[in-house]
Amino acid sequence: MPLLCKECNGRRFPIAFSEERDALWLCEKCKNFVNIKDEFIREWTEKEMEESKSKLENFQKDITEGKTPEIKRRSGVN
Ligand SMILES: [Zn+2]
Repeated sequence: MPLLCKECNGRRFPIAFSEERDALWLCEKCKNFVNIKDEFIREWTEKEMEESKSKLENFQKDITEGKTPEIKRRSGVN
């Protein structure tokens, strides 16, 4: 998977689009998308930058806060 950008070696993030079958991988530095085969798809538009901002923030939050107590809480039910 294209987890790292070939151009800047930065981390790519999978972005899901309703019109695409598979998620596209975004490099925030190079501002472009590749597909799952690491092939260039297109540039990241300014409109998408705004729209994706909150999504990306949530995604990164999920990673950094990986130790959420969700699983523990579930076992405590009943
Ligand atoms: Zn890059």
